[in-house]
Amino acid sequence: MLAEHSGETVKKVTTELLTLARSLGEPSVVWTGPGAEGAKDRLAEFGAAKVYVADSADYDDYLVAPKAELLGQLVADKAPAAVLVPATAEGREVAGRLAVKTSSGVLTDVVGVSGELVGEQSIFGGAITVQSRVTAGTPIIAVRPNAVSPSAAAGAAVLEPVSIAVTDAAKTARVTGRVAQERGERPELTEASIVVSGGRGLGAGENFALIEQLADSLGAAVGASRAATDAGWYPHQFQVGQTGKTVSPQLYMAIGISGAIQHRAGMQTSKTIMVVNKDPEAPIFELADFGVVGDLFKVVPQLIEEIGKRQAG
Ligand SMILES: Cc1cc2nc3c(=O)[nH]c(=O)nc-3n(C[C@H](O)[C@H](O)[C@H](O)COP(=O)(O)OP(=O)(O)OC[C@H]3O[C@@H](n4cnc5c(N)ncnc54)[C@H](O)[C@@H]3O)c2cc1C
Repeated sequence: MLAEHSGETVKKVTTELLTLARSLGEPSVVWTGPGAEGAKDRLAEFGAAKVYVADSADYDDYLVAPKAELLGQLVADKAPAAVLVPATAEGREVAGRLAVKTSSGVLTDVVGVSGELVGEQSIFGGAITVQSRVTAGTPIIAVRPNAVSPSAAAGAAVLEPVSIAVTDAAKTARVTGRVAQERGERPELTEASIVVSGGRGLGAGENFALIEQLADSLGAAVGASRAATDAGWYPHQFQVGQTGKTVSPQLYMAIGISGAIQHRAGMQTSKTIMVVNKDPEAPIFELADFGVVGDLFKVVPQLIEEIGKRQAG
């Protein structure tokens, strides 16, 4: 499986993939770029047996093609039962390229895999569950972030350096610069244990300050519906849903969001869902564990005040 990481920090999706991979066999992690030494303990904690470390600048300096080449070589050398990658923008592209290189079938947006390598996909915004199996080559399976709850189990995480000669063809798209995403003190949306999302009910971009205030009072990440991001009220990278991010926090708060199927697709596996909406008929109430029917401009300030009091007390 391909690790997603930031320097030596192992991303949560990597621990999810390891958890899933353990149910299928003995997981080997493929680590590109620096940081494997520092990440070893974390990978061991989630049961990695082996870590193939390709510590070369090629993987950071170019787009995804070198990673696909590396995986292609490892598939040829090690003959794994399957290759798991995160179904992130990058992971999906790696999966597609790897499938072509190895003449293998690929499953994307998988939310679970059984022992016989049957992948489960949740489609049409979660309305239908499909089971599929790859019948050609080495199954390549792109697993949706937050589809699996990570659980720890000790592994050896033996580091094994690997290197390949990346072809010139894989070096045609170079990374020329990187800009750190501004997100201040808030946790990353897909990794946060609490997410507070705002929708069209906020009425204007400046009213997202209210959502941010509520989020900050809880140490939460901020999300948004597509109606809100399309209106330019909040940046697109915070969109939750079918065409945005998938989140599965302990607590999801939907404020002024109607609960369209495409929005649900990105948040319906949240453990507890709390809703504020002035329309008692809004479909989001079907998912809600707690719901307040009311004007968000009255409810949310009271909520923030009450949270503040309890934190002080
Ligand atoms: C192919 C496709 C992909 C899509 N992908 C996504 C996606 O990834 N994510 C996504 O979110 N959407 C997605 N959509 C759009 C989706 O269909 C909805 O249009 C969108 O989710 C609606 O956003 P909303 O709930 O904020 O707005 P609305 O549906 O307009 O709902 C606003 C809600 O706010 C409530 N409200 C209004 N004022 C107040 C107030 N003062 N206090 C309390 N409540 C109030 C209203 O009662 C209403 O329920 C997609 C659509 C398509 C066709």
